[in-house]
Amino acid sequence: MSSSQTDQTPSKVELIKAQSDGLAGDIAQILADPQVSHFDEDNLQLLKFHGSYQQDDRDLRIPRKRAGLDKAWMFMVRARIPGGQLSARQFLAMEELGRRYANGTLRLTSRQGIQYHGVGKENLKAMVAAINQEAELTTLGACGDVNRNVMCDPAARLDWRAGLAMHELCERIARHFEAQSSSYWEIWCDGERDGQPVPHNREEPIYGTHYMPRKFKMAVAVPENNSVQLYSQDIGIEVVHEGGRLLGYDLIVGGGMGSSHGNAATFPRLGTRLVRANPSEILEVVEAILTIQRDFGDRSDRKRARFKYLVEERGADWLRGELFRRLGRELAPAGPLPAYGNDDMVGWRETNDGRLMVGLHVLNGRLRSEGESSQLAGLRRIFEADLAEGAMITPLQDLVLTGIAPADRDAVAAILGEHGLSDGQNISRLRRLSMACVALPTCGLALAESERYLPTLVGELEALGDGDAPVQILMTGCPNACIRTPLGELALVGRGPGKYALSAGGSQQGTRLTFPVLEKVDDAQLAGIIHRLIGAWREETRQGVPFGDWAAAQGAEALRRLAGEGNQDSHEPLPNP
Ligand code: SF4
Repeated sequence: MSSSQTDQTPSKVELIKAQSDGLAGDIAQILADPQVSHFDEDNLQLLKFHGSYQQDDRDLRIPRKRAGLDKAWMFMVRARIPGGQLSARQFLAMEELGRRYANGTLRLTSRQGIQYHGVGKENLKAMVAAINQEAELTTLGACGDVNRNVMCDPAARLDWRAGLAMHELCERIARHFEAQSSSYWEIWCDGERDGQPVPHNREEPIYGTHYMPRKFKMAVAVPENNSVQLYSQDIGIEVVHEGGRLLGYDLIVGGGMGSSHGNAATFPRLGTRLVRANPSEILEVVEAILTIQRDFGDRSDRKRARFKYLVEERGADWLRGELFRRLGRELAPAGPLPAYGNDDMVGWRETNDGRLMVGLHVLNGRLRSEGESSQLAGLRRIFEADLAEGAMITPLQDLVLTGIAPADRDAVAAILGEHGLSDGQNISRLRRLSMACVALPTCGLALAESERYLPTLVGELEALGDGDAPVQILMTGCPNACIRTPLGELALVGRGPGKYALSAGGSQQGTRLTFPVLEKVDDAQLAGIIHRLIGAWREETRQGVPFGDWAAAQGAEALRRLAGEGNQDSHEPLPNP
């Protein structure tokens, strides 16, 4: 039984939202006071709605404490970029802002946004203002209890998919579910948006004074490319089409990947196929579903406040009934699960306008700018010379350059080579498929390394001869699963410094959850264990079956045995369920 069933007292965050004056809180005053080094608990909750998390450099915590110093406070600032689409000018502006106000890196996110890390409090206001005014993007709604960045198949505009208007729908949803309070514009942009004054407003016609119980996530995709992972979203909008002609949308609801170690009331959940909506009603239907979560979601226990728990507890029939009641009509059921593909978009290909695009593998989404030979310097050269028209951030945290004239291909390829930007040619299959969340040193929730450690682990596996294995390894520093870890063929989730829980059995199509295999593995033993599992898979299937399918068929017991061969006491097995 969840705490929500026993205690309906609203959580502290619910009160903070309700008393915030439309999310304004004291943010403006705290920003303006140079004597204040960081935000208090109430205001840092509100700051999230404005697109920023207060953090501190965790590498410096102990030395600073020993020296009697306060934490090294800093901020993560996240830009919301529907479908991950940027013009060359926007990319250049974002790159410049990273050098001006942050640590010089751009972190491409698994929801197709961009994060900056290491922004000082003294630069926070200028950074957010510049994202709006110089890059013409926004941080509003990139975090907080609202509809987050809407994901979309990154190829939405490039080939036969262009006629499906997926990206247009993604942008409509993003705009429709934006918070309406003018506090954001007053605090960060002197009361203006796009150079126009924003009238003072505290009314939220969709969200109300309490906003959503928790974050809410949506994505749009065709079955041919489920890189957005529709089954992990609060609402996955699966485009139904016939030969590129739009027929409608199958809605998959109540997916969510996060959980908490040791709390059985929290778990990852695959979405449920609910209803089919036609193009003229899609926004109305999505809004009705979102408001069901707004009205019935758990507001007493934030660990149980995601939509997935409501869908799990009440069931699809209840949800359908409530949805039809709100709409005043019934909808057809969603069709059966079609065959899904997953395109990482890495490499060169021609687009429907006769030009080229090139997908670049970006190691864990981190683009760096140290020196003139850096990756960001190379991208700057390409965009400044008008060799590419725009960029797209993929759900795998990679970057695609678009609008390249065929005559410029060699020039672009030469710059990519000079700046260590990979079009997929010189990296192993294993590395290309692997993905990590940010974790240490900036994420306050990280229990173990992720982004800084996964490349080492992959390197060890490459040295053992596993580089050519098309196996997807996903790693996070905690079970919040920011990169949708429970869908990985192999998933590693931080349990503590140098310790990881190992799960297996997801699929690259994103339609099956992993199951736990080992509770706590020392990082020194991970490469050996994974190598043994990959070896067993190769021997048994000759790679004729995807690793995740093989692992799912084996089951936890067999995988534990295979993982431990020759090293029986090397790790803690999970207790039998
Ligand atoms: Fe931080 Fe956990 Fe998200 Fe990783 S998964 S970025 S550790 S919250």
